Amino acid sequence: KLFNDLQDLKGNIRVFCRIRPFLPGQSGNKTIVDSIGDNGQLVISNPSKPGKEGNKTFKFNKVFGPTATQAEVFSDIQPFIQSVVDGYNVCIFAYGQTGAGKTYTMTGPNDATEEEWGVNYRSLNNLFKISQNRKTTTEYEVGVQMIEIYNDQVRDLLAAKGSGKKMGVTNISQPNGLAVPDASMLPVLSTSDVIDLIDVGFKNRTVSATALNERSSRSHSIVTVHVRVKDLKSGNCLYGNLHLVDLAGSERVDRSEVTGDRLKEAQHINKSLSALGDVIFALAQKGAHVPYRNSKLTQVLQSSLGGQAKTLMFVQLNPDITSYSESLSTLKFAERVS
Ligand code: ADP
Ligand code: MG
Repeated sequence: KLFNDLQDLKGNIRVFCRIRPFLPGQSGNKTIVDSIGDNGQLVISNPSKPGKEGNKTFKFNKVFGPTATQAEVFSDIQPFIQSVVDGYNVCIFAYGQTGAGKTYTMTGPNDATEEEWGVNYRSLNNLFKISQNRKTTTEYEVGVQMIEIYNDQVRDLLAAKGSGKKMGVTNISQPNGLAVPDASMLPVLSTSDVIDLIDVGFKNRTVSATALNERSSRSHSIVTVHVRVKDLKSGNCLYGNLHLVDLAGSERVDRSEVTGDRLKEAQHINKSLSALGDVIFALAQKGAHVPYRNSKLTQVLQSSLGGQAKTLMFVQLNPDITSYSESLSTLKFAERVS
């Protein structure tokens, strides 16, 4: 249903907003965001301008409030997974400041129960379910890559050892082509394979993390699912891929307060998130030149941004009043691309 009316879709991009609940210890009742009913509108209120004057309204394809469950969120994503087995390329990514719930949405909390599974596990689980249902007519092959982009360098998160190797990104011209051909591609047969594999990837991701400068929020992590669908009768093959992206935190870093590595990180994050915004913005302005080459992030995701591809962005918000200005800047990013 999501893609029934392609004419109406600017560049095939959907934007969902998700507001996470308050966490223990947060100010709790001082929320700055309100989602209004079921119509995709969200109102944010400026804490220093009480009353209607400080309110700003944003419109999304859908807004998930703090009580939305992982299963509810996934029910709106399932059509995208169906598209992957129909031979489309799909990109689902989460954008927002650190702590706004990107990893929760994409992966789930640490040691998630099945109910708490995020988009990654549910997507793969759904893929396997679809393939099971069609196994008399169709053969499916599913392979997964997992990479991290840190300071505009690509690292393989699934490399057996020594994942320090720098990886090149290629321009995909084949339907079964790989953007990062040197990154390990592991076959997966079940959701539990996927859980193990993502676990390995996450462990490889957090090197030298400190509380303030946690590496995982300073890099983009990308799980790429490659699916080959073979019709057993005709022997014809279709290829679809799915990029699941947990972006680096979008918070602005005060230039006067950071130097050295931290400043370099911040500049790379800023540059790559702007490059992503520019690509999506260009796609929405049909016919415009699409500047994919401006960052590793957009190069890696190129096959699933634009053309026939389907893109879904999660705009993640922290409801706390202290996050007002970051939330506003997150919403402005979303507004530009939707
Ligand atoms: P990010 O990846 O954007 O930095 P996290 O996903 O790590 O943010 O979320 C920050 C904290 O909030 C984590 O403890 C996470 O488990 C919790 N959290 C985020 N979203 C939700 C949610 N929808 N329901 C319950 N807890 C959540
Ligand atoms: Mg995170």
